[in-house]
Amino acid sequence: MAQLSPLLKQATPVVVDHGEGVYLFDSDGRRYLDFTAGIGVTSTGHCHPKVVQAAQEQVGKLIHGQYTTVMHQPMLELTRRLGEVLPPGLDSLFYSNSGSEAVEAALRLSRQATGRPNVVVFHGGFHGRTVAASTMTTSGTRFSAGFSPLMSGVHVAPFPNAYRYGWDERTATEFALRELDYLFATLSAPNETAAFFIEPVLGEGGYVPANTAFLQGLRERADEHGILLVIDEIQTGFGRTGKFWGHDHFDVRPDIVLIAKGLASGFPISGIAASKELMSKAWPGSQGGTYGGNAVACAAALATLEVIQEEGLVDNAAARGLQLLEGARQIGDKTPAIGDVRGLGLLVGSEFTTPDGKPDTATAQAAQKEAAARGLLMLTCGAHMNVVRMIPALVVNSEQIDEALGIWADVVADVAK
Ligand code: PMP
Repeated sequence: MAQLSPLLKQATPVVVDHGEGVYLFDSDGRRYLDFTAGIGVTSTGHCHPKVVQAAQEQVGKLIHGQYTTVMHQPMLELTRRLGEVLPPGLDSLFYSNSGSEAVEAALRLSRQATGRPNVVVFHGGFHGRTVAASTMTTSGTRFSAGFSPLMSGVHVAPFPNAYRYGWDERTATEFALRELDYLFATLSAPNETAAFFIEPVLGEGGYVPANTAFLQGLRERADEHGILLVIDEIQTGFGRTGKFWGHDHFDVRPDIVLIAKGLASGFPISGIAASKELMSKAWPGSQGGTYGGNAVACAAALATLEVIQEEGLVDNAAARGLQLLEGARQIGDKTPAIGDVRGLGLLVGSEFTTPDGKPDTATAQAAQKEAAARGLLMLTCGAHMNVVRMIPALVVNSEQIDEALGIWADVVADVAK
C-alpha cells in the first residue's frame, strides 16, 4: 500500500473531516478552534455558504477555460472587481495558482521592465519555494538547504525588526532610516537593481510589522534609482491586517502587488497587479501557465470579496485583532518564557525566548502541540520556529477570541513553568 511521503510532516495530529467558520471537525466529531486558517487562506472561514454556492454554480458551468486560448466571465469579472480595491494605478492583473508563482511572475516582469539583473529582499522575508522564490527567502535556512546553486542576483538587506534590534517607539524611526542608509551603502549597484521585494509584515519570518519611515524611505529611494517596489501581500492582503492591504498601514505606493491566500477562501489562485504600462513590458510568452486564473477559483474569489465587503470583515479583523493582541500580550507579560508579543490585525505572534534572550524553539513547539491537544490549532513561525502564531479567519467573533485566549493562557501557564 502506498504511504504518504515522510516530507508531509504535520504540526498537529488532526485528520480533518469538515470545516465550518473558524472550526474544524475531525472524523470522531471533535471540534477544534482553527487559528491557522490554512496558513491565512480561509479568510471567510471554512466553507462560507456564499463561497460554496458560487463555486458549485461555476463547477456546473465551466471548470477550466485556459486563458491564452479562451477568456471566461469569472476572470473578467474578478479583474473588474479587484480594480476597485487595488491601489490607484494598479490597473492590470495577471493570474497564477500559488504565491510562489506570483513571486516568480513579478521577478520576471521586474527584470524585463528595467533590463536590470538584481533584486533586493529583506532579512526574515518569505516568498515561496520555487528555486527563485527560495533564493529570495531568508526566514529560515531550511527553505533553501541542499539544492544549491541558487539563483544569482539576490541581495539581502536588513528588515526593520524592532524587537530583534531592541528599538522602542522613540528610537524606531531613527534606526529604520539608518538601516536604509546601510542598505544603500552596501548595495553595490543600485542602477543594476530591478526591484525591492518586501512584506508589510514578515509572515513566516515571525510576524514582524515593518516601519513607516523605512517603507516610505524605501519608496523615495526606489524612485531616485529607478527601482521597482514590489509588495508581497500574499499573507497580509484582503483585510488580514485590519486594513484592506498590509501596506495601507504605512501609506506607501507599490509598483507591483502580489496576491494569493486570502483572495479565494481556499481555492488556489494568485496574481500580480501592476500598471498597464509596466505590465506591457512583459515579454510575450514569458508569463503564463495551464491553470492560472481557474474559472472556479475566480468565482470563489469574487464571492470572497463580496463576503469581505458585506460582512465588514476588514473592520472585524481590526477590532478582533486588537482584542487578540491585547489578550496575548497579557498572557505573555505573565511569563519570562515569552519575550515579545506583536502583530497587526489578525496576525498575532508570541515569541518564546530563553532567559538570556535566545530563541526557545522547544517551548514554543510544546505549547503549540499542547494547545492542539486542548482544541486550539495554531502554527509556529520565525527563523527558529519559536514564534507561536494566531491567524484565525476574518469572521472570528469576540467569544471565539476569548475562548482561544482562555486555552492559550492555560497552555502557557502549564508549558512555560
Ligand atoms: N509570500 C508570502 C508572504 C507567503 O506568506 C507565502 C506562503 N506562506 C508565499 C509567498 C508563498 O506562497 P505559496 O506557498 O502559495 O507558494
